[in-house]
Amino acid sequence: MDQQPYIPGMSPADPGPLSRFIPPLEEGVISVWLPLHASPFDEAQGRPGSWLLDPFGFSPRLVLEAARSGYRVLVTVNNPVTRFLLEMSANPPSESDFKAALAELETAKKGDERLGTHLRSLYLTLCQKCEKEIQAQSFLWRKGEDAPYARVYECTECGDTGERAATQQDIDRAKKIAGTDSLHRSRAFERVVSLKDDDRIYAEEAIEHYLPRPLYFLHTVINRLDGLSLTPERRRALNAMILVACDAGNTLWGYPSERLRPKQLNIPGQFREHNLWTQLERGLSLWLETASGVVCEAWPNKIPESGGICIYEGRLKELAHEVKKEIPIAAVIGAVPRPNQAFWTLSALWAGWLWGREAVEPYKIALRRRRYDWAWNATALHAAFSHLFELLPLGTPFFGLLPEPEPSFLTSALTSANAAGFDLQSLAMRTEHDPVQILWARGEHLKRETSAANIEDIREAIYSHLLERSEPASYLHVHTAGLIALTESHAVKNKEQEFDEAMRQTQALIQRALSEDARFVHYSTGENVDTGLWGLNHGILSEAKNRLPDEGDSSAPSAALSDMTDSLSDRVEIAVVTFLQKNPNRIYLEIEEDLYPRFPGLLTPSKAMIYAVLGSYAEKDGAAWKLRPEDAAAARRNELITITAMIETVGTRLGYATRRQEKNILWIEDEQIQYAFYVLASALIGRAILETPHPPPPGQTLIAIPGGRAALAAYKAQRDPALGARMKNYQLVKYRLLRNLVEVPVLTRETFEEQLASDPLEKAKAQMLMF
Ligand SMILES: [Zn+2]
Repeated sequence: MDQQPYIPGMSPADPGPLSRFIPPLEEGVISVWLPLHASPFDEAQGRPGSWLLDPFGFSPRLVLEAARSGYRVLVTVNNPVTRFLLEMSANPPSESDFKAALAELETAKKGDERLGTHLRSLYLTLCQKCEKEIQAQSFLWRKGEDAPYARVYECTECGDTGERAATQQDIDRAKKIAGTDSLHRSRAFERVVSLKDDDRIYAEEAIEHYLPRPLYFLHTVINRLDGLSLTPERRRALNAMILVACDAGNTLWGYPSERLRPKQLNIPGQFREHNLWTQLERGLSLWLETASGVVCEAWPNKIPESGGICIYEGRLKELAHEVKKEIPIAAVIGAVPRPNQAFWTLSALWAGWLWGREAVEPYKIALRRRRYDWAWNATALHAAFSHLFELLPLGTPFFGLLPEPEPSFLTSALTSANAAGFDLQSLAMRTEHDPVQILWARGEHLKRETSAANIEDIREAIYSHLLERSEPASYLHVHTAGLIALTESHAVKNKEQEFDEAMRQTQALIQRALSEDARFVHYSTGENVDTGLWGLNHGILSEAKNRLPDEGDSSAPSAALSDMTDSLSDRVEIAVVTFLQKNPNRIYLEIEEDLYPRFPGLLTPSKAMIYAVLGSYAEKDGAAWKLRPEDAAAARRNELITITAMIETVGTRLGYATRRQEKNILWIEDEQIQYAFYVLASALIGRAILETPHPPPPGQTLIAIPGGRAALAAYKAQRDPALGARMKNYQLVKYRLLRNLVEVPVLTRETFEEQLASDPLEKAKAQMLMF
């Protein structure tokens, strides 16, 4: 398989509306990928404006970025909320429309008072310090209780701020609203489904995730909408702000450990009830930050050749025939969907609240379907891939971004695509926190010949990956290595199998390949195969390394030797430093752009690893990185000579005979090696260990490193338990310690030992950079 490098991007500066339900993608990825794989020039028509298809429509930003790069993007969306997000992001109302719409709502009358005053009064609370009546930012609840236990505020009068216990007044206010709850609750579900509807029960259950106060707030606002005289743009702006409040108003906001990205409708043990008036205002600023300006039309309206978005509201199946006739698709892009019962169910509710029952009707199944497992996901993806197969020409590329990857999600995506005639071209993975980048191509046969899964293929794939890494990998990585091997031999699913059976078999086979093979070592605190890290048995690793180079071919580049002996993190260290030596003052993204093609596919280094190296060697001037003066190559070479001489001086003063042997400095007494030193300018600890005497001498082996490398060395030891274990027989000493020892007027062997013991590595600092 072609190993395509990971395309780096930037995390968006602002999260945007409903961000906890939108795939977390980096920006700038699709605009790099597109020109490489799909010409913006429409060859069939002989003019600019190639067509792309996003069959899932889950990520508004991805679609916008593609449209801005000069493509026409056809998007299928059947979730009315996602559709609204996409339209709003492409073409939001102006700031003045947002402000006017909110002002209109604020000044509407509720009895004798303004609606805004009434709604804000729902959140009044007494400041504990100055006893003035102020707005709470939120109330805190325990699941199942009928009143909040605390409130969070920032007093506008005296500045007192934080979490305070709820007062009797807070409790009474919450209970008073609850007194009229059943009326509001029945109105809330009648906007979604009719009383006679069989799905009524599901709507009621979904609404259980709203407390009485937010439900009252939202429906007081929603019921006023038709009475306001708003232009269509202002109505759209107000809907957008209300949508943000709808999400802020449910109970899926765990406290204090906020589950940032809920997938299930589960009420946390403790949760936060937001002040929805402030959330409406927050909605205003969230939407303004997304301001775009991309043409967005509903199918089959025309969009310009310069790029734009065409939304098909409905299912891919229905679109397939129309597209095949009329539009040549140059490439497919999209964030591969994963099950999200919480978002899908809430979307159906919100659609009813904002746009009425008719808007819910085509999407009502989302209310009913309560259990989404990975086999369900694979079946749904398979249907989508099969429709795509029908409408795409042979060889059409499909660039899929798989957010929040986990083993089952990858199995689901790769199995369903393979079973629908798509060939896996490349897969690049960084960490479990980053989207996986997958490239498929539409193959020749929808129903291809399959072969039987072979456990040895999986073993060999995992073995080669671990050998290439020369350090342990996460279960996700080794699982993916095995899965790719099965996919390439078309052995992920045979024609008779259902997806649940096929996926269970794949999962079990990969786990058996790992657990029943003495070459693989499991580093984990748990028993399960799919936890922790997997590495190669050290004996096998060094044997393989010894076998591969040294074939007597002196023309072999030394880089190949280094690739076989250095671990992935050591090679990343070398690559980053080499890049900065040649290219000072580069921004982080440029470092990634240079690095990723050197470490493609499953080897993609994490940001934490790159930052650990940068933190050790470089300094930042504005956004640009350059090596520290002391880490320039010439400075480090001189220092190596100085430190080596110091080690000899100290050894002589302590009464040892000193000797240089290969890359070591030995302190000898009675013809026995008492201490062996290895001087490093880098943090290539693995290489140092390999080049010190074996077996280690009876005395101590010390590795001297610059102080600036200590955190990087500790990071590597923590990241790689195999290295951490080997390092137990060695002691790292900082250059500074040796310099200090030279200065000590009366140096004894005891003070030397004491000094060594007093200089541990900075472990705390490394703790923060685990991936
Ligand atoms: Zn106060």
